[in-house]
Amino acid sequence: MKLGLMGGTFDPIHFGHLRCAQEVAEMFGMDSVLFIPSARPPLKPAAEVSDYGDRLRMVGLAVEGNPLFSASDLEKGGEKPSYTIDTVRRILAAPGKQGSPPEIFFILGMDAFHGIQRWKDWEELLALCSFIVMTRPGHENGSLIPSLPADYAARYTYKNDIDACAHPAGTSIFFRAVTVLDISSTRIRKMVRKGRTIRYLVPDSVRDYIEQRGLYK
Ligand code: ATP
Ligand code: MG
Repeated sequence: MKLGLMGGTFDPIHFGHLRCAQEVAEMFGMDSVLFIPSARPPLKPAAEVSDYGDRLRMVGLAVEGNPLFSASDLEKGGEKPSYTIDTVRRILAAPGKQGSPPEIFFILGMDAFHGIQRWKDWEELLALCSFIVMTRPGHENGSLIPSLPADYAARYTYKNDIDACAHPAGTSIFFRAVTVLDISSTRIRKMVRKGRTIRYLVPDSVRDYIEQRGLYK
């Protein structure tokens, strides 16, 4: 069972997230991709993040009709920040359908990978699951440095057969070029505030939800 995890604030989810995840899922033959909105993104000021319920519902609307995608509320609840390491540990601890834990691929953009050293227990996390780093315009790609300290990066060996950097623990970091749409949630929020349309940047269901709930005004 190959499971993709796509974490984010998703404030709101947009076609950039969806298209990239679709391409990566196809590339790796994944069985499923979970979109996991962070209830309390540790690295973003809480006052600037929209209600968790709204963000989760928008993710749910966005993935509707795609059998490969689902919305996950694994990071719901509590005042505590949501840490990826805890989420991955929980998934690995839950018994899978076949009894064996899934092979987990954490999918993220290059911008997010650049900040990996600020993530809780990042060294352990990299040994626990594989990472797929998607290229994004304006961010260089394909190298562990400068995202990781040189001494940690030196633990990895490049493996030709899988075109990835392999960790001694058996996990890998894959850099993959995907059709990156230059869309960001920040810009979408600004556009809504200015009264401009976000049609074709987000699924219609998400656009309707934002309008109905009067989000980002
Ligand atoms: P914000 O502008 O609020 O930071 P965002 O558009 O960057 O929002 P996030 O929820 O922060 O979205 O990102 C979640 C994940 O999706 C991150 O790993 C990020 O790198 C990735 N991502 C964001 N936008 C895109 C995009 N257009 N294409 C591919 N990946 C993206
Ligand atoms: Mg972001």
